[in-house]
Amino acid sequence: MFYTEAEIDRMAEKRSDPEFIAARLSDPDTVLLPVWRGQNLIDESGDTPRAGGFSVAEGGMLLEEGGGTVFLGDAGGRAYFAVDVSSHEEPSEVAHFAERGEFRNLRDVGAAMSQAEGALLAFGRGVFAWHETHGFCSRCGGKTEMCDGGHRRKCTNCGASHYPRVDPAVIMLVRRDDKVLLGHNKRRPAKWFSCFAGFVEIGETLEEAVAREVLEEAGVKTTAVKYFASQPWPFPSSLMLGYFADSPEGEPKPDMEEIVETRWFSRDEIRDIESTEYRLPPPDSMARQLMAAWVEGRD
Ligand SMILES: [Zn+2]
Repeated sequence: MFYTEAEIDRMAEKRSDPEFIAARLSDPDTVLLPVWRGQNLIDESGDTPRAGGFSVAEGGMLLEEGGGTVFLGDAGGRAYFAVDVSSHEEPSEVAHFAERGEFRNLRDVGAAMSQAEGALLAFGRGVFAWHETHGFCSRCGGKTEMCDGGHRRKCTNCGASHYPRVDPAVIMLVRRDDKVLLGHNKRRPAKWFSCFAGFVEIGETLEEAVAREVLEEAGVKTTAVKYFASQPWPFPSSLMLGYFADSPEGEPKPDMEEIVETRWFSRDEIRDIESTEYRLPPPDSMARQLMAAWVEGRD
């Protein structure tokens, strides 16, 4: 019922129109997608996990709970809103939620969901995560309140506007001859290897950030840096920018702070990682997509 292949039309120009937002929230066909303390309502009764949601006709009471709404946009002629229901202590004991599914961390189920549906849930969850930590003005310390359909906070004291932020992060697959260099981060389970990555700093280009991160984490210099793709990673607010980077020479040396081991992997090992003792990130991650592209010659 809530599935849509259609890209959501975010209708950003309508967010600041309170009458438009109010009309959409009173439309019985509008879809409400509950978010509880960073988790999304997920219906796992079918073959693949789906977004658990309510039409306004069914779930209008969610709007009375005072947690706020975020207008996500329109798809297939229906408006979609994320609704904060964090005031419940135990949502699994609330009948209308329990009937529709269970609150889950999107990171655990997102890979198995349709991309469009996962993106919609991630959008709402990510915006609420920002609201949660921006209740006060960073300029004057005054209280802020939600406005523009949940896409802005305004200070009630000095009037300053605050917008949800996105943190750009680069992630790169380092190539040399017929192998790629991956690192083991000490916070990960044993034998788990992934691409190097890090946040972009103020004043540097994306290409410079790629070269810096590889040098910092793996101790090798890179030459050519080539853009691959981007992916929102709203846990809480990153935008992952994927790159290939070539490192023709030099002995890798892990930084021993984050990365405690580096290893060169062949195409066969990446392709059939299950038959090795090593583990890689999940298929929905940018790291894994970079590896898949390299294995298939799409790099
Ligand atoms: Zn202020």
